[in-house]
Amino acid sequence: MPLSKNAEKRIGKKIKRCQLIISREASFEFSDSPTENIIICNAGITTGLQQETILEEVLRQGVSPKEIGFPTGKSYCYLRFSSPQVAQIVYEAMNGISPLGQNGCILLMSYYLDTRNANQHEVNLSPSQLVPGLILSLDFIDEELEAKLLYAADMNDENGLEGNLKHRRVKHFGFEFLYGSNNVDKNKPMDRKIPSICNQLWEKLQQCYPELAWHIPDQLTVNRYEPGQGIPPHVDTHSAFQDPIICLSLGAAISMDFRDTKGKHLTVDLPSRSLLIMSGESRYGWTHGITPRKTDTVRLNNSLTIRKRELRVSFTFRKLQDVPCRCQYHSLCDSYKNESDVRSLHLHANATQLELDNVHKVYNEIAKHFSETRHSPWPKVNTFLSSLSPGSILLDVGCGNGKYLGLNPHIVALGCDRSNELLKVCINRDFNALECDCLVLPFRSASIDACISIAVIHHLATEQRRRQAICEIVRVLRPGGYALIYVWAKDQEANSKKSSYLRQNKLNNKPSKGTDQSLHVMIPKEDHITESILPIHTNRTQFQHQDLLVPWKLQNGKQETKKTFLRFYHVFEEHELDNLCRSVEGISIEESYYDQGNWCVLFKTKD
Ligand code: MN
Ligand code: ZN
Repeated sequence: MPLSKNAEKRIGKKIKRCQLIISREASFEFSDSPTENIIICNAGITTGLQQETILEEVLRQGVSPKEIGFPTGKSYCYLRFSSPQVAQIVYEAMNGISPLGQNGCILLMSYYLDTRNANQHEVNLSPSQLVPGLILSLDFIDEELEAKLLYAADMNDENGLEGNLKHRRVKHFGFEFLYGSNNVDKNKPMDRKIPSICNQLWEKLQQCYPELAWHIPDQLTVNRYEPGQGIPPHVDTHSAFQDPIICLSLGAAISMDFRDTKGKHLTVDLPSRSLLIMSGESRYGWTHGITPRKTDTVRLNNSLTIRKRELRVSFTFRKLQDVPCRCQYHSLCDSYKNESDVRSLHLHANATQLELDNVHKVYNEIAKHFSETRHSPWPKVNTFLSSLSPGSILLDVGCGNGKYLGLNPHIVALGCDRSNELLKVCINRDFNALECDCLVLPFRSASIDACISIAVIHHLATEQRRRQAICEIVRVLRPGGYALIYVWAKDQEANSKKSSYLRQNKLNNKPSKGTDQSLHVMIPKEDHITESILPIHTNRTQFQHQDLLVPWKLQNGKQETKKTFLRFYHVFEEHELDNLCRSVEGISIEESYYDQGNWCVLFKTKD
């Protein structure tokens, strides 16, 4: 029923008001005469209008739109038709009449001129043009293989189903997908392997995408979606699975929603027997999901129509990985939510620079002061040195000021260190010492009778480097040679004996707990400022972290000012040093003990 003159006037006023509001935030060129474009001024995503609802109403008028636009976060939407005449049919039938607005409000419409360039129409773009890294391979399998795959998945077998999800049936193969953590337990492979029929998929995949030849998935999740069922928007856990994620659609087609972190929303139609490859940005930087509803809006012959959903079964193939993610999409990334992963990433990426800035440079600066505080040898180290037979060649890796080099006059003691300022102290004391990196010792293999490395290896930033330091010691030792290694212990109260380090806590002679400053601190470097993600330790307290920066306060000349230097430490857990040594071939651990706040290992190279 057409509107009365009065009603038309009243609605006209309301529309003008809406146009004014919209034109403040978007540049629509409104038109009083019909164009092929209609904006619905008072209904959109934020008023709860569904695309399907408006499409159904338009289709009821006997026409179909070429495009429906639902801008994110807006209370308006728009329709595009093939001609102004078609648009006019919808305008006259629905403007001021259809009660699809919020709380049953009537829709207010206006024509507008489309000022976009032709290439701004996203209608005919392929999935990879819409979402970078997304590949949709149509008719990837034939109906025969589809039937075989469905049979192999056996989704009607009630016993085999897992994770009784509220909204859909799932079944896992290879590894169980754990919905609590959205991860898998890599140590618990399932007895139910991926059906061998799937191997045909990888042969086809290699033919079509040779760059994915290496990609043989080891985890499969089969989802069964009845009409009305969906899956919430999510990103497959970054750190748990490699790139890409592969999804094969069986049964009926369905629309999948993709959203990026800036709110961009795109719908990709997944036809039956198509293969969806989510790689790169589409895998890491976009969420994907299926809206639970019974219909989808689909494009047919360049106009939009509604498709009823039917049973769909999807095979999602993933390949496990066990390294933290290194992507740039931090808000979607589990690795960046996990502080220790971030630290380990940071340490791996910056190991040499960190050791240079927070070990080598610092020891050079504090060498004199440090040396003055390091005079009394630890008794158990002394015992080891005294036990060496006369004429033995000793190498002290990281000898510092050389406090162990002169203890046994009957042996040949060599020292090495990275700090040339500390080496100067050694030279002044007439010791044999040279500058080198403990990761590459400048000594022949099997040329040394005994090694000590006291409080050195804990300055290396990654486990790989700490292991390498031990490998070097093992290499230079002769068969049957001995090495004594000391590293700082995380638990300074182990064996309920406080280390001298903790006893020096002058405040109350009782270590306060939980006082590592986990703040993100700014540490000035030479010519740039770097944000350190490592916690700074409060001296003379229990360690709260394994990788941290330990301050060294240095009196600045005669002035009262103190300069603080930060030394990097990896403090060891109990048994960590034993395990590290055990991972190196050709040695046997003779003794392992706790001494002076350190974990200590005495090992022997095999004869
Ligand atoms: Mn997924
Ligand atoms: Zn990531």
